[in-house]
Amino acid sequence: MTSRGTVMHSANVYTIYYGANWSQDSSQTEALILAEDLLDAPDGEVHATFLSTYYDASGSVVPSQVRSVMSLADTTYSQGKNLTDALTQKIVSNAIQSGNLPKDSNGIYVVALDKAVTSSSGTAKLCTDYCGYNTHATLQGIDVKYAQVSYGGGPSCNACQWGFRTPTNAATDAFGIADKFASNVLHEVYEIVTDPDGLGGNGWESSGTGVNTQPSDFCQNQFGNYYTIAGGGGTTAFANTHLALLS
Ligand SMILES: [Zn+2]
Repeated sequence: MTSRGTVMHSANVYTIYYGANWSQDSSQTEALILAEDLLDAPDGEVHATFLSTYYDASGSVVPSQVRSVMSLADTTYSQGKNLTDALTQKIVSNAIQSGNLPKDSNGIYVVALDKAVTSSSGTAKLCTDYCGYNTHATLQGIDVKYAQVSYGGGPSCNACQWGFRTPTNAATDAFGIADKFASNVLHEVYEIVTDPDGLGGNGWESSGTGVNTQPSDFCQNQFGNYYTIAGGGGTTAFANTHLALLS
């Protein structure tokens, strides 16, 4: 795991809850509330526990200012129910252009898809090949960091459903799915803070065995302990983050 020098020193999270189920489905509403609670952890202390182990080229560490500034509901599926990255960019771009979300170069824009929405990137399919991703693009004249995250509770999204707690039943374990959704949101947010330009950029990445990874990828589906990553400028602790709040 090495740093090529770039991190975000403050991060304002803007979440677009895409789809009607975020307000209509009580399981999804629970997931939304949990994710917002985690992003707004008191004084950012939970975020600082993990993110302060990362630093930029000058040695300046990531501070704790990761917070949810505001969220937006797109209940009408403005770009349809089968998304691509281009359509995901459009969702973010439209939210900024309309003034519903601010244009913020310290922003992290999270597009959270409800259970009725699918997405694909080339041959890779959401819920089969990935549960979320982060990257950046020039939108509305600034460099926008954004992520797409699945809710995970859809009928064909088994790979994205399980969180910290031992699951019971995919169809009924709303809390387990909420837990995993919140974890996925923080996964992508933390990766943007530590690697703002996405894979291939100038932040913290590991080239591993043929697969480039970002910090949270080391902790995918692992809960309970710090995970120590050797290499680069020393050791870096990173773990899935919500244990402290939920245990
Ligand atoms: Zn990741």
